[in-house]
Amino acid sequence: MISSLSPNGKARVFVTGGAGYIGSHVVKALGEAGYEVRTYDNLSSGNRWAVLHGDLFTGDLGDRISLKSAMEDFDPHAVMHFAAYIEVAESVTRPLKYYRNNTVNALNLLEVVQELGIRNFIFSSTAAVYGMPEEIPVREEAPLFPINPYGASKAMTERLLADLSEANDDFNYIALRYFNVAGADPQGRIGQSYENATHLITRALKTAKGEFDLLQIFGTDYDTPDGTCIRDYIHVDDLAAAHLSSLNYLLGNGIGDRFNCGYGHGYSVREVIEVARKVTGVDFPVAEAPRRAGDPPILVADSGKIRRTMNWIPRFDDLEYIVRTAWEWERTLPKK
Ligand code: UDP
Repeated sequence: MISSLSPNGKARVFVTGGAGYIGSHVVKALGEAGYEVRTYDNLSSGNRWAVLHGDLFTGDLGDRISLKSAMEDFDPHAVMHFAAYIEVAESVTRPLKYYRNNTVNALNLLEVVQELGIRNFIFSSTAAVYGMPEEIPVREEAPLFPINPYGASKAMTERLLADLSEANDDFNYIALRYFNVAGADPQGRIGQSYENATHLITRALKTAKGEFDLLQIFGTDYDTPDGTCIRDYIHVDDLAAAHLSSLNYLLGNGIGDRFNCGYGHGYSVREVIEVARKVTGVDFPVAEAPRRAGDPPILVADSGKIRRTMNWIPRFDDLEYIVRTAWEWERTLPKK
């Protein structure tokens, strides 16, 4: 099936998980660029209000009948797949939950994509597929040794995609390996709103807001300049732009591949805390705590490949901006 373009000459994009944190920023970017969008989301952690463009089809990825009917009738040129579970610690205690949703349901989705002859697929992958990389900055060619079920569930889906595209000349995919995604829509319409968020910037801001008594620093004895872990924080709108670049690349017959999404430099936990204190104006308390299991000391992307191949140019490579947009969003959420 080769679908004709929408009347405005733009492609139609079917987005699973478009009501979630990253998916909703991509839906926003697609809508603003004139694409026709349909979100498919079971609203397990996403929100109806977060879908700023197109329509929302409420359904589960495990329900193939619902999925197929939502997709068939929309006749998309490309599928972007965000719907997944993302908590590393939970994946360790409930691995089957992660393999079921992140791998088996992705397989379901790919079967439907095949049945409908959809050629282009963009997948939300993660730096967690690398595990503890030996070389930093980490390149896409580094071996994949995920160290938790979350990373393994995503690495398996990457493998499904690679095998499927190898077997089928009409199928092309891009896997985007996200580093540490943070920040929010600068207009304050959408942002991260999970209950029990465990990520550093969100925890720091919730501590500044008074939801927690203090912020724990997990490990101060790493082999890094200040002893705390270093991560490559990327603003969610730059990540969204990487998805649009990937879409244009695939629609222009680019060759499917995997790309890191990060800025190529990192900040330590202590540096993030300093920026969070500055942005919020709150000198919130911190406590040094033992290392958290499974944390690599440094995780920084080599982002050369996506910059070269797709001419992706980040616009918000500024930790203060990232934290400020996250803070403006966080302040609109009711205090728990
Ligand atoms: N971290 C921390 N305190 C927290 C949350 C996270 O010290 O309350 C550290 C964590 O150990 C890691 C870094 O912050 O070194 C980033 O963790 P996060 O969970 O944000 O992302 P990850 O890199 O695990 O995907």
